[in-house]
Amino acid sequence: MAMGTFVGISLTGFVWDDFDMAFKNAFEAIDKVERKADLYDSESELSRLNRHSQRAPFSLSEELFSIIYNSNIIYSESNGAFDITVAPLAALWKSSIKKKTIPKNSDIKQARAVTGSDKLILDHERRTVFFKKKGMSIDLGAAAKGYAVDKAAHEIKRANFRSAVINAGGDIFCIGKRRFVFPWRVGIRDPSNKDAIYKVISISDRAVATSGGYEQFFLYNGKHYNHLIDPKTGYPAADAFGSVTVIADSCFMADAIATAVFVGGEEVKIKIERLHPDVKIATIPYSR
Ligand code: ADP
Ligand code: MG
Repeated sequence: MAMGTFVGISLTGFVWDDFDMAFKNAFEAIDKVERKADLYDSESELSRLNRHSQRAPFSLSEELFSIIYNSNIIYSESNGAFDITVAPLAALWKSSIKKKTIPKNSDIKQARAVTGSDKLILDHERRTVFFKKKGMSIDLGAAAKGYAVDKAAHEIKRANFRSAVINAGGDIFCIGKRRFVFPWRVGIRDPSNKDAIYKVISISDRAVATSGGYEQFFLYNGKHYNHLIDPKTGYPAADAFGSVTVIADSCFMADAIATAVFVGGEEVKIKIERLHPDVKIATIPYSR
């Protein structure tokens, strides 16, 4: 268990390969990212950043800065649909849902005033982050998992493995080929029937991630509220798609783009496809 999900790694190699070392280093790399980005540990690097950046630029480890820096790029590429500063909104919705209700409009308005990655000041040289507005905070719930998978993949390649799969709850990195010869096959779940596979895709040496509103959602007065927030409205994203699957060179890109397209819809999909011709985006229509 890591980052709130099951993480599985499978390696193919030879008797002389050091499997134990590869597993150990890969899982440690994931744990390291998780510890730093843990919003619920008040002493994690992310929590310290959220406290200190209110007052002065806060300097970060290379890993955390890299996640935030790259998230900011996806923020602008997705017209603001992917936004790591949704923390105040996400927290508001989380606590309301716990009480089996939805937030008040006035509270949403307040939280929206302190949301927006355009209000982050990043200094690349010093690796610092500063909040332009008091009350802002960062939630890496949609950004850290893919990044952690990339780090694990790096460790596995460093241990000289040429055929492996890392799967962190659907954030998947496929190294090389299955048994060195065949492409890896990844099943995409049917969003309207969790036990069925909608489609099987073949990939090698790339990452794939899926974003959807069907795994975690909340029903209120017959309306379906998913776990992703549309920063433009302060409300959970409209179900423009059943799910969005993205294939990219890194799992960070795959996951962040999947979330961005799920929130931003067709318009963001078209824009990202134009900006990243190498990225493949497949959507499944919403049906219920
Ligand atoms: P999915 O797998 O469906 O893309 P993720 O696990 O990647 O979902 O991301 C979900 C988490 O991202 C939420 O729990 C929340 O912390 C955060 N989040 C919600 N809305 C956004 C958004 N618009 N941009 C970035 N992060 C978000
Ligand atoms: Mg995601």
